[in-house]
Amino acid sequence: MGVGCSNLSLFLSLSLSLSPSALPPLALKAAAASGPSRYTNSFPSSLLCFTSLQHHYCPYTSFTMSLAPSSIPSQLAAWKPGGSDEVLSDEFLEMVVNDALVWSALHGLVVGDRSNSRSGKVPGVGMVHAPFALTPTPLPMPYWRQACELAPLFNELVDRVSLDADFLQNSLSRTKKVDEFTGRLLEIHLQMLSLDKKEEIRLGLHRSDYMVDSETDMLYQIELNTISSSFPGLGSLVADLHRNVLGHYGKDLGLDSRNVPENPAVNQFAKALAKAWSEYNASSAVVMVVVQGEERNMYDQYWLSTVLKDKHGVASIRKTLAEIDAQGHVLPDGTLVVDGHSVAVVYFRAGYTPNDYPSETEWRARLLIESSSAVKCPSIAYHLVGTKKIQQELAKPDILERFVENKDHVATLRKCFAGLWSLDNDEIVRTAMDKPELFVLKPQREGGGNNIYGTDVREMLIKLRNEGNDELAAYILMQRIFPKDSLSYLIRDGISHTEKTISELGIYGSYLRNKDKVIINEQSGYLMRTKVSSSNEGGVAAGFAVLDSVYLT
Ligand code: ADP
Ligand code: MG
Repeated sequence: MGVGCSNLSLFLSLSLSLSPSALPPLALKAAAASGPSRYTNSFPSSLLCFTSLQHHYCPYTSFTMSLAPSSIPSQLAAWKPGGSDEVLSDEFLEMVVNDALVWSALHGLVVGDRSNSRSGKVPGVGMVHAPFALTPTPLPMPYWRQACELAPLFNELVDRVSLDADFLQNSLSRTKKVDEFTGRLLEIHLQMLSLDKKEEIRLGLHRSDYMVDSETDMLYQIELNTISSSFPGLGSLVADLHRNVLGHYGKDLGLDSRNVPENPAVNQFAKALAKAWSEYNASSAVVMVVVQGEERNMYDQYWLSTVLKDKHGVASIRKTLAEIDAQGHVLPDGTLVVDGHSVAVVYFRAGYTPNDYPSETEWRARLLIESSSAVKCPSIAYHLVGTKKIQQELAKPDILERFVENKDHVATLRKCFAGLWSLDNDEIVRTAMDKPELFVLKPQREGGGNNIYGTDVREMLIKLRNEGNDELAAYILMQRIFPKDSLSYLIRDGISHTEKTISELGIYGSYLRNKDKVIINEQSGYLMRTKVSSSNEGGVAAGFAVLDSVYLT
């Protein structure tokens, strides 16, 4: 489990010569030097739900430890977010937590409560506050600026890559042999190519996720989400919550509410959807939100459709893929009609995981949508650009240059690429088996809980090799990032847990173009997520993740 350093130089030279994405040597050193004490090797089951926050709210698996504010261990209660030595009393914390809970309930910072069986179906029934951090997480300004500057570059990159059908098909050709889901997406993509179907109005609502590596001080991209980027709604609210908490208690906490940047994600995404709707130019048409049959994160989605309606006067409908198959058809002129409504924009908050396609019905619906003239967010091509395999291909030398002319932009983008490798190289596979702690093994899946860490990396690589080399193509290897940990109060189910945590910054981007005209290319707010940094080796779930915001330092 430990990260021995005896083979470090071998590892360095191997990685450097093999690294398709030119993994910075410092980053390797940092990761290698990060030692076993920093992180345990596998995520506790409760952490998987952190990853699930990415796309949709998944009810947390059993989380048994409960640490009420009144029972915060004294050394932790003594901690103050602002860094002052002054001790915060348990009573004070309880008051702040209580105020934050009231604020959440009154302002719609809520998700469905899984203890109520109807909470994923009927709005207004069985709600609980979304898990959140009591105070925002510090982030040095240069990282914030860097991440924000990257947003329009990634927006443009996604668009450019989406137009290179051969690149997408070729890059994913080996993956599709062993990954049926990716294969089905590629099949639809091919069908559209054979029809010479053009997407003239293209809408991207992305979220690029980053972590700051503690040893190298580098901001690295974890992944780019091009489908169903979640939490523009609740993420915006958490920033408001934090500004409210700091407005009242900032002095006591040693924090200034002005350092929490406003989070316009929900407004910006609604604006982009509305503009796409108006480019489509059919005044009676609606935006269709593609949803899962049961959705406990429905309020995040409803925030968006509410702003869309209230601010922009655009109506939306919510349909599952199965409903779209049953109620939808495409008119000869390309108009998508579902349940009697002409659809101008299809906004996917489902369809990113094989679970959303339990039968041919759902695939038929996806094909129907793609073959229509509605604006798709995302189109099948945009969806494919967001796969982990494409992320890894883009990190290879000289690939970015094919899509981005501006050399400064290439350098800016490349700077945030961590080490990424395909598994068709024996040497990198051997290295990962030798030092699995330094890697994350990722399948072509979205939605959290699919990645493999620690000694499981080695076991999985051995298993995949035994199954035959083709199986390796379903995965990519990524350099593991080790963010610095800090203490946070994580609030879940009305209970405060004081934990050592690490955070992941997501930056939303919106992009809209109609033929040659770029209408929107913007950074559009952010999402901070914070999760416990350690797990209980004994397997007792000992942590969880929450929605958070940024405190600029
Ligand atoms: P998903 O599509 O399932 O969200 P991600 O690539 O975002 O896949 O991985 C899920 C989570 O795993 C991330 O939110 C992050 O917490 C963690 N993770 C992913 N890649 C790395 C990495 N290279 N180093 C450290 N943690 C990672
Ligand atoms: Mg993710």
